[in-house]
Amino acid sequence: MSFKDYQFHPKINAGITSCGYTVPTPIQKEAIPSVLAGRDILGLAQTGTGKTAAFVLPLLQRLVSGPRKNVRSLIVAPTRELAEQIHVNIGQMAHHTNIRSVVIYGGVGKQPQIKGVQAGAQIIVACPGRLLDLLNEKAFNLRSVEVLVLDEADHMFDKGFLPDIRRIIKQLPRNRQTLVFSATMPKEIRHLAEDILQNPVTVQINNSLPAPSISHLLYQVSKTKKTALLKSLITKKVMTRTLVFTRTKHKAKSLALQLQRSGFSATAIQGNLSQSKRQQAMDGFRDGTYKILVATDIAARGIDVSDISHVVNYDVPDTAETYTHRTGRTGRASRSGEAFTFASHDDSKMVALIERIPGYKMNREPLPELVKEADQGMVSEKSDRVLRGTARRKKPSTVSRSKKRRSAATSFDFGISRREQR
Ligand code: AMP
Repeated sequence: MSFKDYQFHPKINAGITSCGYTVPTPIQKEAIPSVLAGRDILGLAQTGTGKTAAFVLPLLQRLVSGPRKNVRSLIVAPTRELAEQIHVNIGQMAHHTNIRSVVIYGGVGKQPQIKGVQAGAQIIVACPGRLLDLLNEKAFNLRSVEVLVLDEADHMFDKGFLPDIRRIIKQLPRNRQTLVFSATMPKEIRHLAEDILQNPVTVQINNSLPAPSISHLLYQVSKTKKTALLKSLITKKVMTRTLVFTRTKHKAKSLALQLQRSGFSATAIQGNLSQSKRQQAMDGFRDGTYKILVATDIAARGIDVSDISHVVNYDVPDTAETYTHRTGRTGRASRSGEAFTFASHDDSKMVALIERIPGYKMNREPLPELVKEADQGMVSEKSDRVLRGTARRKKPSTVSRSKKRRSAATSFDFGISRREQR
């Protein structure tokens, strides 16, 4: 199967060729024919599966003929980075056509965005808040929209955007094609989909399974040794482009600074940055100025850098779904990648939850010599077993009670396995 089989307009085929796409990805194979046929779609797919092209290419095919000057399609995304990324992708795929998109989000001037629409953009890619502001100000209207796309709908729900989305939808013609993409399907998204989709085709691409090209590795390490471990791995392994996740904005910033001071080319992207600083960090990571980008989950949504070699969970994510989102940043479009998770004993429950997902079993890796150090504090036997990946209880020994107590103390007083202590 090749893109030629869809009989896209030659100018769109030229765009596909310049993007370097030859064979459609599974979601593209599933979705493109139905979108071309004008059907509504409920797409369950995570980032990194090629879902942007799955909706943009049939959209371009529709727009390549018909009226030129109206806004004929609206794509709504939860973050500025994702909106920007979709806009850039459209620019690449539509390069040989006259179809233009304009991107709309807060934190930057409104006038260039309004002018972009007035200049005849046929596609608006927008975050909900700013779009609603401009609609309320009557800067333009959406009465000629034929196709609505909601991307990363679950994340829009996480960010509390669903009421805004419903307000925006009220301003669209009822007679339109609607495509909803979401990595997960919480009940709020299911209800929204039921309300706004008509007789949809459901497309599901191995939603809970990781891309097969990703290796999952776990380092059992105390909190105080995580930075030393990261530095050691960056020095020893070939990590061409690494995305590091921390739990807090503050940690993202301080870790990037620590790495810079140690001579690594690192930067951070977190919610407190101005739009221009975020863009600088993103561009620097994309063009290779920075080899390491430290980010929080919210800030990292929408990052689409195609050849991320490593994802590091410096802090273990709060949910198994977040683990999927994070690690989906590497191994994209069939490239291979590695995902490292740094887990201390407090993380054993979440590690166990993540590993319950088929295909997510992590290889236990020994700590590099320099990083090995005793942890402080008692740990439970259960969490120790989870992190060491040893499922069953050891055989009860026949030693005396007092000896048993002494050996238990030596086993559990340390946050690393006995093998590693040697
Ligand atoms: P997405 O899931 O849309 O964020 O896409 C993930 C990555 O896959 C992006 O870097 C796309 O440029 C790339 N991609 C999309 N479709 C294809 C394809 N058919 N062949 C190769 N790469 C693709």
